[in-house]
Amino acid sequence: MNWDLTSYFSGFDSADVAQFKASLESEIAGLQSRCAQITPIGADTAGSWEEIFLEVEVVWQRMSHLGSYLGCLTAADSANEAYKAAEAAFATVSAEAETLEVDLKRGLREASDADFSAFAQRPALAECGHYLSRLREEAQRTMSPEEERLAAALGVDGINAWGRLYTTLSGKLEFDMVYADGRREKLPMAQRRSLMANPDRAVRRAAFEGGNAAWAQVEDVAAAAINAIAGTRLTLNERRGVDHFLDVAIFQASTTRRSLDAMFEAIFDSLELPRRILRLKAQAMKTSGVSWYDLEAPLPGLGDNEEVIDWPRAKEIVQTAFSRSYPRLGSFVQSVCDRNWIDWEPRANKRPGAFCTGSLLTRESRIFMTYNGTMGDVRTLAHEAGHAFHSYILKDMRAYGHFYPMTLAESASTFGEMILTEGILADAAVGAADKLSALDSATAQGAVFLMDIPMRYEFEKAFHEERSDGEVEVSRLEELMTQTQRRIFGDVLDEGGEDPYFWASKLHFYITGVTFYNFPYTFGFLLSRGLFAEFKERGSGFLPHYEEFLRLSGSATSEQLARRILGCDLESPEFWKSAIETLRQPVERLETLLLHRLEPDGVGGDEEEG
Ligand SMILES: [Zn+2]
Repeated sequence: MNWDLTSYFSGFDSADVAQFKASLESEIAGLQSRCAQITPIGADTAGSWEEIFLEVEVVWQRMSHLGSYLGCLTAADSANEAYKAAEAAFATVSAEAETLEVDLKRGLREASDADFSAFAQRPALAECGHYLSRLREEAQRTMSPEEERLAAALGVDGINAWGRLYTTLSGKLEFDMVYADGRREKLPMAQRRSLMANPDRAVRRAAFEGGNAAWAQVEDVAAAAINAIAGTRLTLNERRGVDHFLDVAIFQASTTRRSLDAMFEAIFDSLELPRRILRLKAQAMKTSGVSWYDLEAPLPGLGDNEEVIDWPRAKEIVQTAFSRSYPRLGSFVQSVCDRNWIDWEPRANKRPGAFCTGSLLTRESRIFMTYNGTMGDVRTLAHEAGHAFHSYILKDMRAYGHFYPMTLAESASTFGEMILTEGILADAAVGAADKLSALDSATAQGAVFLMDIPMRYEFEKAFHEERSDGEVEVSRLEELMTQTQRRIFGDVLDEGGEDPYFWASKLHFYITGVTFYNFPYTFGFLLSRGLFAEFKERGSGFLPHYEEFLRLSGSATSEQLARRILGCDLESPEFWKSAIETLRQPVERLETLLLHRLEPDGVGGDEEEG
């Protein structure tokens, strides 16, 4: 492993890991029995509840420390059975710790408004107001504590088991890859995605078709899982008094229905812009439109002769870009590299994907990724560094101020990516091909966030509506998926170019802990474009406000933050429209560069000004 994990523990086999876990378990058990004996928050119990809240806060800090450590180890060496066993044992501790939340909610739910506001104003709970109000709001939509405990216990073999079944299924599923020369190969499903981003269209199509044939073999299992997961949620919503299934997702995203509707209204009014990105791709491929398997492909001519960027150069590109417009971010990334906080090397048994994790005890972060030398990997580094910087800005906030939603987390990471793109385009040391590649991946993201993700949201919404009336058959799932893709992508998606099995192959529909694991990405993407536009307009004087936005991300709603930092109303489509509009200039620039490049003697292109 490349990263230094010694600030977590001296080593995995050391006695301090076992001791840490044992004392955590006994703290949780002690808190559980104390909670069981206390009546809801009131004048006479406020002091005891304050102690409980403060101790639970420490439990969360310690949980994040151990959980982050084990997460790092299993990601970096997923074949290590000892790590896996330790992570499974930790899941049991997590489930116990989560029952503490049931108790906290019971304490808050039955408190009167006056008792609650007196409680939230206690000095020891300063800067917890947002957290407490949210927990109390959530508590209004719960069953009795006994029923909640039963639901949690049954969930291990119910909804969560369906999620695990799906993970096992997709992990073991193999597909037939048939190459142009007739060669056949059985490949694990995990390799399909990178083949579908291959510069060669025939390779992409073969991976797409082979993959879907494999999914067709297990369609009934996937359909049973997606139906059971949604069905459980709908039943629990009804028992908990939740009016609409979207309310849960909106609460988790810490936003409002009006903001979500305003965002989608703006997106659906502006679909022509992201469609233009795909039209450009079709033009470059010399096809009438794109197929599903073209969505992740680089522009023709970019992916095949892309030069490998070595790791020291990747760090340099990110640091130069960051330091140019945001020196504090640049020096932060420098220190992340100097302190060996990144596991980047491609190695066998590394988990796919990338993430940023951290400990609320040490207030340090770690970045996990597999660096293969592409511009896309450089972008991943900037993305994860954006997350790490978010944690760095939050480091002096109490643990209860760290529970920020995914919407705001993704704003921080996308902000990092935007600074990177801008820096690359302005950097004379970066060649024209790399610049074009950076612009391609930045605009391609626009198509993902403004069409692909909204499509997933629309599908999931329609599926939940139909699921309320009973199980949804495989044929209907396919139909619903195809229709939704047609509606969002329009004529830029070739007739027959849809992916009818996307509901089965996309893991995000099977994540049991978070519902509607899609729109927060688009929300964060657009919000960060709004922040970035403000930064461009106001210059470096805006950066302290940006940092305030990050610092308060766990202490206010998205609407409150946008009003305070940007003076914008997220509940109005205007904000979202102007955020979408910021994509127009890069799209036009790419069009110009590409058309120039497609001309016979324009290969390589001229240096573009920043
Ligand atoms: Zn992210």
